[in-house]
Amino acid sequence: MKNTKNIPYYKFGNNSINHLPALIKQKKISDNDYAIYCIDEFFKNSYSSLIEKNNEDLVYIIGTKEEPKTSDIDALVKKISKYKSSNPSVIVGMGGGCTLDTAKAVANMITNPGKAEDYQGWDLVKNPGIYKIGIPTISGTGAEASRTCVLMNKKKKLKLGMNSEFTLFDQLILDPELTSTVHRDQYFYTGLDTYIHCIESLNGSYRHPVADSLSMEALRLSREVFLGNEDMMSNSNRQKLMVASYLGGSAIANSFVGVVHPLSAGLSVVLGIHHCLANCLIMNQMEEYYPKETEEFQMFLNKNNINLPERITSSLSDNDFNELYDSSIIHEIPLKNALGDNFNSILTKEKVIEFFQKI
Ligand code: NAD
Ligand code: ZN
Repeated sequence: MKNTKNIPYYKFGNNSINHLPALIKQKKISDNDYAIYCIDEFFKNSYSSLIEKNNEDLVYIIGTKEEPKTSDIDALVKKISKYKSSNPSVIVGMGGGCTLDTAKAVANMITNPGKAEDYQGWDLVKNPGIYKIGIPTISGTGAEASRTCVLMNKKKKLKLGMNSEFTLFDQLILDPELTSTVHRDQYFYTGLDTYIHCIESLNGSYRHPVADSLSMEALRLSREVFLGNEDMMSNSNRQKLMVASYLGGSAIANSFVGVVHPLSAGLSVVLGIHHCLANCLIMNQMEEYYPKETEEFQMFLNKNNINLPERITSSLSDNDFNELYDSSIIHEIPLKNALGDNFNSILTKEKVIEFFQKI
């Protein structure tokens, strides 16, 4: 079994973001030291009330229209390298999964030579990155707790992270108050990433007792949030979902996903549909592989009045469907986890295309 590292430090609670200045101060030794803030574009007009930036610090607003690309990371690192001869003392990522993953990738690339695409894979990062603080502002992906940062590589038509213990944040600030402004649909889609990850790993054949326990607790919390008496976005439910996301992200190090994530990756690579919506679109069609869970997922949708977009693939060509198939089926490890070594004969090309046609 793999030697496992999880997040060393976290602060949890409403308004815990107020601890950020003190945490940054601990990392700055001289007056010349500086911090870099990667901030989700949602906060572009309000971040100055949340962080205490000084003159030396740099702020980058991270767009979320497209998921982060390896070329975005290379461009950002180039800008930073021109700013000063010394490296930053700390990098802060504040936002959704796109922003957290950008901060993690930039922190790795400042201390490792070459391009971001050279490190897409497992344990390729050689040197520890810059000290980094993660502040999720939407719950569900677990990006705050995982040892990866997912990047699109347009040239290689590949969506793959820098899986490395150096990719883990050094410190988290988990402040559920920050998630109160998330749009309801987005809150649902992203929140469901935890649920989907956990049901996939618990239904798989590669198991790990710690990951299983973390996943079971994350599922229990998700059910309370999406099926309980309170609104899914009540104060206490936003707290629960932030904990579920953290636990789900901590489980990722020792668990594998199943059928949903590979097909979802196809939708993201070929049609540019964001990870969490893509997951929900696929989960809704999974009666054959995850019957109980698909039924429960549809209860979540109904209870919270969420309508998934429809007829997304209605005007696609045969060539598009072939591309969707190719970019899904390359994810062999999760498919083997879910369906066994002969996954190709169970999840045939016709079947995969049929799933996509229903979306
Ligand atoms: P996201 O980062 O795209 O954010 C979704 C939307 O919510 C954006 O429009 C963003 O601006 C907005 N938003 C964020 N916080 C807000 C707030 N407090 N109020 C209002 N709006 C807010 O989406 P996501 O679903 O969190 O992350 C998806 C990304 O995470 C994908 O790139 C995916 O590949 C990646 N991911 C990473 C991991 C990992 O372990 N590293 C795991 C799963 C997914
Ligand atoms: Zn996911």
